[in-house]
Amino acid sequence: MKIKPTMAVLALTVLLCGCSDRTAGGSSTAQSVSSAQTASQGAEQSSSEKSGAPTVIAPNFQSTSETSETSAPVTSEGMSASSGGNMEVTEEYALSEDLYVDGILTIKDGGTVVVGNGKTLYVSGAVEMSDNGKLIIEDGGKLVMDADSAEINGGSVTVNTDFDSLSCEMGTVNSRIIPPERKVTDGVTTVGGIVIANKAIKLPPEFGSHLSLDEVEPEVNAALDEMNSMSEHQYINVSGYRSYYDQQAIFQNYCDIYGYDEADTFSSQAGHSEHQTGLTMDLDAFEESYADTPEGQWLAENCWRFGFIIRYPKGKDDITGYTYEPWHVRYLGKSTAKLVYDSGLTLEEFLNVEGGKTVID
Ligand SMILES: [Zn+2]
Repeated sequence: MKIKPTMAVLALTVLLCGCSDRTAGGSSTAQSVSSAQTASQGAEQSSSEKSGAPTVIAPNFQSTSETSETSAPVTSEGMSASSGGNMEVTEEYALSEDLYVDGILTIKDGGTVVVGNGKTLYVSGAVEMSDNGKLIIEDGGKLVMDADSAEINGGSVTVNTDFDSLSCEMGTVNSRIIPPERKVTDGVTTVGGIVIANKAIKLPPEFGSHLSLDEVEPEVNAALDEMNSMSEHQYINVSGYRSYYDQQAIFQNYCDIYGYDEADTFSSQAGHSEHQTGLTMDLDAFEESYADTPEGQWLAENCWRFGFIIRYPKGKDDITGYTYEPWHVRYLGKSTAKLVYDSGLTLEEFLNVEGGKTVID
């Protein structure tokens, strides 16, 4: 990656803490600290860097120009801006103000940009990371891609809170996404705000009980309406919410007809059906050949634009627990659906949760 003359952006501070995964890497540290000191404009600096206490010093973009002492321009929105310039990060930086990147922000190996404390990183240009470069969103921080051409490439993007903190309806994130730890609240498992139900992770009986059979949450209906307004096809919700007890009766019915082992291959046990989330619909059909129809093809290619994913992709049944269901969509919201779609991963893989065909109650 070619680095053009860079400009220091005073929106950034560096934290030199002792956390192993946060420590700026390798031999560049001393030089970078020194460079940062030079650039310091009254920022606090401590000699306690070995004690583990965060040391806040001025920003430290590698610069080949003499402009690094000047204040960053401020856009009409009041954000610090890179003024079209490019920036390079070799250590850990935590945003102390919102930052607008309309050039190229390069995060080298050992470099980390932390977006937290209610600050926002706007990317309309590109973030280019080396293999070990990191972008971390935490503590109310937000990353907003605000141009279709915006890109984040290489390295990793860690989402430490909800996926809502990464807004990428525009632009593309090509980096590895590291999801937050799962939470289990009142028996409901979520990762980054995404509710999970599969054969290994179940929902409690009361979950979704405000819905009636085949209803879905309002945002799912709205997304379906929007999709139908934008498509030449009209998709019909033929199966939405199913309560724990609906599913229990359905599964028992199949067991009575086919026996438990057979029923278990195609029907969910109570608490394990994604339909209980109220965020899932079967559209139009229940035949695998639906994938080959114009409706099925359009759905697979475009449903992410409206916040849906095809939840059980072809050939992934060892992970998702289900054979290919080209009619079964799961609502995640536009930004997260786009992330999952672009990743090419199943939801289990994307969220780093267990799945598989074995029911774990
Ligand atoms: Zn379904």
